[in-house]
Amino acid sequence: MRLPVSKIYRAFPELDRFSDAECDRFVQLAVKDRPFQTALVTIGILALLTIAMVGGLTFFLGLFSVLDTYAKPLRQLDMWPAAQILLIAVVLTALVYLAAFLPRDKWIRSVIANRLRSTRCLSCNYSLLGLDIRQGMVECPECGCRSSIADRGLTAEDLLATDQAPTAP
Ligand SMILES: [Zn+2]
Repeated sequence: MRLPVSKIYRAFPELDRFSDAECDRFVQLAVKDRPFQTALVTIGILALLTIAMVGGLTFFLGLFSVLDTYAKPLRQLDMWPAAQILLIAVVLTALVYLAAFLPRDKWIRSVIANRLRSTRCLSCNYSLLGLDIRQGMVECPECGCRSSIADRGLTAEDLLATDQAPTAP
């Protein structure tokens, strides 16, 4: 799934030194590792979006029919139909933002935060992103603790690192 996102990852200082392309990839991989959650969030957002759209349109249909009945001068305005369309467009855009983009961004933020937590040194919590990986091991520059990335369920890509030597098969 492609995420055409605002640069949510820029809210995380640990990712500051990486390029947009690298961060994009980092986010994609973190999301891909959570297929079940992704499905749930997608269904949730679609449901929210449907409720928001149906609710919004129903509200406007009701509102406009009331106005048509009780506010005759409005109906006589040349620009009234255009104003109706504009009003609907503005409110529906706001609803899409509230029902889809806001929850999605919030979720992606939590996915990034989780992935950042899982890519820290196990002993001192130092960020291991971007470090060299040798024979599948990454060494913390702060405390010297070495850990196998495979044992932690990670790949070199997850750590935004280049694998220096092929990992043992
Ligand atoms: Zn460490």
